[in-house]
Amino acid sequence: MTSDKLSKLRKETKETLAQSARESVEKAAEQAARDSLAVPMARREEVRRRGISAAPGIVIGRGFLKDSEFFHVPRTVIDEERIEAEVDVFEQTLIDTRKEIDEIKTHMEEQLGEDHARIFDAHLLILDDEVITDGTIAVIREQRLNAAAAFDTVITRITAMFAEMEDEYLKDRYIDIKDVERRVIRNLLGKKRSSVQKPREPASIVAHDLSPSDTAQFDRSLTLAFATDLGGRTSHTAILARSQGVPAVVGLENLFELVENGDTVIVDGNTGTVVVNPTQSTIEEYEEEIARFKELEEQLLTLTGFPAVTLDDKRYGLVANLDLPEEVEHALDYGAQGVGLFRTEYFFISRQYLPSEEDQYQMYRAVAERMGDRPVVIRTLDIGGDKIASYLHRSPELNPFMGWRGIRFCLTRKDIFKTQLRAIYRASVHGRIRIMFPMISRLEEVLQAKEICAEVRRELARDRFKFDENVELGIMVETPAAVAVADTLAKHVSFFSIGTNDLVQYTMAVDRGNARIAHLYQNHHPAIIRFLRQTITAGHKRGIHVSVCGEMGGDPASVLLLIGMQVDEISLSPNMIPEVKRTIRSVTFDQCRALVRRVMRLGTTAEIDAEIEEFIARHVRNSHDNGGSTK
Ligand code: PEP
Ligand code: MG
Repeated sequence: MTSDKLSKLRKETKETLAQSARESVEKAAEQAARDSLAVPMARREEVRRRGISAAPGIVIGRGFLKDSEFFHVPRTVIDEERIEAEVDVFEQTLIDTRKEIDEIKTHMEEQLGEDHARIFDAHLLILDDEVITDGTIAVIREQRLNAAAAFDTVITRITAMFAEMEDEYLKDRYIDIKDVERRVIRNLLGKKRSSVQKPREPASIVAHDLSPSDTAQFDRSLTLAFATDLGGRTSHTAILARSQGVPAVVGLENLFELVENGDTVIVDGNTGTVVVNPTQSTIEEYEEEIARFKELEEQLLTLTGFPAVTLDDKRYGLVANLDLPEEVEHALDYGAQGVGLFRTEYFFISRQYLPSEEDQYQMYRAVAERMGDRPVVIRTLDIGGDKIASYLHRSPELNPFMGWRGIRFCLTRKDIFKTQLRAIYRASVHGRIRIMFPMISRLEEVLQAKEICAEVRRELARDRFKFDENVELGIMVETPAAVAVADTLAKHVSFFSIGTNDLVQYTMAVDRGNARIAHLYQNHHPAIIRFLRQTITAGHKRGIHVSVCGEMGGDPASVLLLIGMQVDEISLSPNMIPEVKRTIRSVTFDQCRALVRRVMRLGTTAEIDAEIEEFIARHVRNSHDNGGSTK
């Protein structure tokens, strides 16, 4: 396909589209606003659903349905006399899809500039490719297949060839083809185009499933809450909601079917409840609950300036997990003493192309500068699993969480890894940066990663860049293999950070995002308790700093155990800091150490939970009544 063809195609449609593009986009926006906020015609019954509480907070607002874009493609053999009509349908669909892509392209150009819109040129070229268009028509005629099935057949054949290719540029085209395929199939099946995937007025997002990249792209100021059918408490969508301070409930099974755009929806992230079309008395009940919750939050915020210190004077560092650079303000507001985990992958997955060294440098520098002399642990790219960048992950994996993820990705895409390391090292002169590698399961990975860091330092020195030679290098301990060899790994790194989200998933063999087996995802399973203690002890024996940055760190009940195991620091979602701090300030280290000793002797999660519950009733609640530590 040549650019001449594209020019011709664009010339043909230019006259009409150039005048109408802006109008169309505006119309789509108006329609979307109507779609999203139209009040349903008839009042429907109140429906309550329990899911998994993923991020705290309660909101009452309008629901906004985020469509899923996966379609089942029916295969039918058509009658001889319908063949030409089916070809016409296909050709008309191509015209409609071209128009659709052109509109989006124009919109992107206006919003984000030409560079970002360029990706749609590739989509238009694909749509005009004779191998695809003529190939589909041939399948309709020869195999008498319906157009959607014929198109699907041709695309499957082509993408299978792409998967085998070595060439990076061509591999990237795979994603473009899949994107075009989705549009054409949707149009062929007559599915409504979800022209707007984001609300234009404040609303609660209701979806069957939300990828972390979808979640990262919603405008925070317009997003009241998230409610999804799929997902678990430690799925990245849930974590992202928590760090952005957006209430969320996941694992609601069939909520999406029950809601219509514009329905009133209550999302109660504290109890994991969603109410659709609440009655007036339910609304009043929740309004009271919201007021109570607000009061409690305000009370907790009074602790912001106080240290996380136990009644017997042991101090703990409470630092923040950041997913997006802009959350740094939020972290400071909640009194974070630094950043214990900066998940850099969101910067990669929330865009359509690889960020440059300069883009990354500016971003790391801004976070480091804003944090001043507080430490910032930058985790290198932990892409893969449920965090997928469409331009990097070309073919889906059968078991993505066990697949090409974290350090495994970086060691095979050394180009991307080195660019990121260069940017981090360059930013290191602007603050107190540390580097952390994710998904370590073998010593060789640590040694290789360290060697690449040394290579980057040599190159930066050669290129006359300033950087801190002594940036500390640490690892996430989040695989059972890393726990088992923690004593060996500790000899080669400056710190450990225990990633309990993955450690629980891999130890229990329970997918962290699967709502159906969420009850088996147990933070307090005896195996996890032992692994935590083993890792902390192994780190301390070598004299290195050990922190926890998984979601366990934001759960006051788990924090009691972590304190008792003498963890040095806890990194957590910023808005959980006040509550965790209050818990720490209500107990003594000795009480927590004794709790750990008792818990280590128990054989089931239920017994351990009961022991912690009893401890909380005896020590924590009482102490809250007395005001906790006076320090
Ligand atoms: C973890 O696994 O606990 C962790 C903090 O990393 P992530 O949630 O990004 O996998
Ligand atoms: Mg992890």
